[in-house]
Amino acid sequence: MARLDLGCLPQGNPCAQCGKPIDSPEWIESGPGRTSYLWHCWACDYQFEAVAFFDDHDEHSEPLAA
Ligand SMILES: [Zn+2]
Repeated sequence: MARLDLGCLPQGNPCAQCGKPIDSPEWIESGPGRTSYLWHCWACDYQFEAVAFFDDHDEHSEPLAA
């Protein structure tokens, strides 16, 4: 199995056009504090993007050298 971080992925997202649930995002792009998901509906071939924002400044708080 692909070792993707599927544990916290939004799965079964309904298609924005026809409402069919989509199992998993087709493409994922992670950025600082956010992750973009590209959904592709197999039923109507519609594609849309969703962005999740994370409050993770604890993990990434790295004070610059004083
Ligand atoms: Zn659809």
